[in-house]
Amino acid sequence: MATSRITLGVIADDFTGATDVASMLVRAGMRTVQVIGVPDVAPEMRREAPHRPPEGAHPAWDGPAPDGPALNADAVVIALKTRTSPAADAVRESLAALRWLQSAGMRQCYFKYCSTFDSTPAGNIGPVAEALMQALNTDFTIACPAFPENGRTIFRGHLFVGDQLLSDSGMRDHPLTPMTDANLVRVLQAQSRGKVGLIRHDTISQGADAVQARIAALRAEGISIAIADAIDNEALRTLGTACVDLPLLTAGSGLALGLPAMYAQRGWMQPDAQAARLDAVDGPALVLAGSCSQATNAQVARWVDAGHAAMVIDPRALARGEPVAEQAIAWAQARLNDAPVLVYATSAPQELKAVQAELGAAKAGALVETCLAQIAKDLVEAGVRRLVVAGGETSGAVVQALGVTSLRIGPSICPGVPWTQAEGREAGRPLLLALKSGNFGGPDFFTEALAMETAG
Ligand code: ADP
Repeated sequence: MATSRITLGVIADDFTGATDVASMLVRAGMRTVQVIGVPDVAPEMRREAPHRPPEGAHPAWDGPAPDGPALNADAVVIALKTRTSPAADAVRESLAALRWLQSAGMRQCYFKYCSTFDSTPAGNIGPVAEALMQALNTDFTIACPAFPENGRTIFRGHLFVGDQLLSDSGMRDHPLTPMTDANLVRVLQAQSRGKVGLIRHDTISQGADAVQARIAALRAEGISIAIADAIDNEALRTLGTACVDLPLLTAGSGLALGLPAMYAQRGWMQPDAQAARLDAVDGPALVLAGSCSQATNAQVARWVDAGHAAMVIDPRALARGEPVAEQAIAWAQARLNDAPVLVYATSAPQELKAVQAELGAAKAGALVETCLAQIAKDLVEAGVRRLVVAGGETSGAVVQALGVTSLRIGPSICPGVPWTQAEGREAGRPLLLALKSGNFGGPDFFTEALAMETAG
């Protein structure tokens, strides 16, 4: 049997959501590793089986699990891509993630979804939560997407985005998961078999004991999932305290902020002030931008205007079969040792539309992604040690090309975007990655990221 190795196992329904919750955990002192997809017990996640704690080991180190993956981390976040996949697929992959986390000795499981509760009547929040409950042999969990720091609050079961109800916010027009009802009890009920209830703000403001009494009452009524109100961080901390013994929590990233302190009280882990510390890595730096979002357009413009080295990728040249990647690689290699360089495909909306009309949006996107991924791979092989990538899909393509399957989470550059360190790389060739979803970060994000001290 595996001894308890990790305290918290998180199953996240998308990549940037995984990074978001991982950042939150690190901030609160949990040493956190994010893995991309369910590992087939990736070798780099296993430690040798020393009889004594390795030098510098966490005080809670008590040897490798006899028959499970042993990890030098308090929390593992498995990043899936299940938010909009068919419910049956989302359930199957989430259960596979659960099994892996169980084999790593997790004490509590956390299903992380978006703070705007992105889902449809077919799922996937309800079906995944219920499948996880069943597998964990538990009859109750809470659902709380609130993230007050980012303006997502819940009152009387209704989700607000800033000052607007969810159903009045931009989310009502989302192409894949339009959210047209702010009443989360109703939204979750439509996608769940069990009964959905509510833990009101009035109860939460009375403290953790009152919440536990309410949970007991809901259970007695046969309710299996309760939407939990939360209008501020204090409410999230109260919920964390009241729910520390539930085998499963389901939430956005907000609920994670109070958990490490609770785990510490239980003696399950010791918060580590250095949890966000990565290796000191100082080597050639590359920025790749494949996002055409407003924020990334502003970041690229700021970089170019400042006179830093930059080269643009032309999708039309790619479509003509010109050796665009090779040219960019040669151009970058000649400059990398002097200063960071930017290679970008980012373009303004009108130009993007014209290219998409000409080549087809999917084809243009795939050409650009493949090209940027190739550039990343060759330049990392050529010595790049710090890589900033702008764009969610672009980041996915780059990480895949680099063969990175596991990331240690470091300090935040801006909310939701931490520096990370690729695990399992050969000694002497460390690699730091900052993977930014398109719309994140201010105009100086690239220079801010590269100026940051990651070794704490
Ligand atoms: P975001 O996080 O902003 O959504 P993504 O990387 O997820 O960014 O998506 C951007 C998509 O646009 C990618 O598929 C990328 O390859 C594509 N793309 C980037 N630049 C161009 C361009 N100039 N023309 C056409 N497609 C592009």
